[in-house]
Amino acid sequence: MSANETTTDTRELQRRDSAHYMHPFTDTKALSAQGARIVVRGEGVHIWDSEGNQIIDGMSGLWCVNMGYGRHELIQAATKQLRELPFYNSFFNTSVVPAIELAGLLAEVTPPGFEHFFFTNSGSEGNDTILRMVRRYWDIEGKPKKKTIIGRKNGYHGSTVAGASLGGMSYMHEQGDLPIPGIAHIEQPYAFTLGRGKAPEDFGREAAGWLEAKILELGAENVAAFIGEPVQGAGGVIIPPPGYWQEIERICRKYDILLISDEVICGFGRLGRWFGCEYFGFKPDLMTFAKGVTSGYQPLGGVAVGERVASALIGRGSDFNHGFTYSGHPVACAVAVANIRLMQREGIVERVAEDTGPYLRKRFLELGDHPLVAEPQTCGMTAGLVLVRSKSHNEYAPFDAEDGVGMVCRRHCFEGGIIMRAVGDRMIIAPPLVMSHAEIDLMCGRIRGALDRTADELRRLGKL
Ligand SMILES: *Cc1c(COP(=O)(O)O)cnc(C)c1O
Repeated sequence: MSANETTTDTRELQRRDSAHYMHPFTDTKALSAQGARIVVRGEGVHIWDSEGNQIIDGMSGLWCVNMGYGRHELIQAATKQLRELPFYNSFFNTSVVPAIELAGLLAEVTPPGFEHFFFTNSGSEGNDTILRMVRRYWDIEGKPKKKTIIGRKNGYHGSTVAGASLGGMSYMHEQGDLPIPGIAHIEQPYAFTLGRGKAPEDFGREAAGWLEAKILELGAENVAAFIGEPVQGAGGVIIPPPGYWQEIERICRKYDILLISDEVICGFGRLGRWFGCEYFGFKPDLMTFAKGVTSGYQPLGGVAVGERVASALIGRGSDFNHGFTYSGHPVACAVAVANIRLMQREGIVERVAEDTGPYLRKRFLELGDHPLVAEPQTCGMTAGLVLVRSKSHNEYAPFDAEDGVGMVCRRHCFEGGIIMRAVGDRMIIAPPLVMSHAEIDLMCGRIRGALDRTADELRRLGKL
């Protein structure tokens, strides 16, 4: 196909896209004016668009394609299962082999104390399930007043009614009268804005203390649970200060409140441990998972139910009136089983901890010498930096929010062959866990190039 034909093709796809396809989290009118970039192929850590551009996928699709594109093991697992049994449910005293296998495998790779797993299609549904589970749990325990779940501002727990309510995204709450009743929020542990000039350990204790203050305000007898992501993902790769999670755990135990770790991003190796709670050294009662469990090859999410909640929900014997047609979908579960086995065979979690994670840190922190960059940080295979107008020592002059500098940088990244996400003026990546040293070098080089072109454009616009 010649370049011309491809372009005509792309235009036609863009026309149909804007005529009929409503995208998630998108200003459809603005997108129609511009035309979507259409992604047609993936291999390893790269994707290709319909114009033939090869791009490094610095975001693993959407934090999920952890084992990279084009993995035959996952493709084979899906096609084999599709031929054998594409669907059957688990509602009426029936079960399916891949769901049985996956639950058993999850019991092996999750921390001790997790023996039971509930399946959904997504992380959002996982958190919806958790909301119902914790309320059911406290009912069974004879404390039905314990209903409120505390989340965090700028936390992300999905886009369903419960997920968006548990999350702390104000731009989501504004649309649709959220949060629903029975949900409260505390500030996030973001040192760049809230912990300036404080020793990290002190800030960790202070930020966890906001949970205790909120519990006392609401009355511990009314609080069911606290939910948080080990590292906040969509909020901008917010890496908590040392001691934060230990202190959160201590407070939850002190007031007898369930601790929920939303592992949708951090789970399955992202931080160099199987789960983010293991990286930070705390023991949750419930974990949400999705994304990396299948490396994104099939939609699958769920809840890992710890001993305490399982012994009440299962041990006391009663129906839990909740579930989805596709809970335990055989094809999704078969792909998850193949994905976890592939991770084990390749020792990918250890590789992130000992090799590629530290190498990404070394290369990414070097970007700190760029005049636009403040406080580059990494945690496993996640990384973030802040774009600033100027810096001297630890003092930074931020850009005006309405300048949209993050979006300018994101565009230069895209055009320079690297996908980086902008959260305000925070630029973040979460590349596939299989990324090699050479690919990390290439990625960081392209980020630096995009930063240079961003600075050039800002100078031309008189904003720098
Ligand atoms: C993506 C995400 C979710 C929602 O998962 P979906 O599959 O998009 O519903 C929930 N929690 C966290 C931490 C996430 O990153």
